Amino acid sequence: MVQYTDELMPADRGWRQYTNGNVHVMININDGTKIRITDDDEFHTVFPESIDLKITNRCNIGCKMCHEGSTEKGIRGPGRMGIHERRR
Ligand code: SF4
Repeated sequence: MVQYTDELMPADRGWRQYTNGNVHVMININDGTKIRITDDDEFHTVFPESIDLKITNRCNIGCKMCHEGSTEKGIRGPGRMGIHERRR
């Protein structure tokens, strides 16, 4: 497996590296750049790289680049979650 040196992916510029199955992952925690490489023909990871949990389609921020399709009229869940439910 290829390991990139700290000279090419310096930690002080935000680069971190780890191995997930047969995948070598390099991620820059400053700008979110993620590079995944493998010596094999296919990627076989042993744990999820990320998990997204979307709890509503309602948002009043209005970002032009919204990748979620969220709007002020977006549908949200059937009920409200009180503080006691959130703590569970
Ligand atoms: S990206 Fe979309 S969901 Fe996120 S704050 Fe902007 S409008 Fe709301």
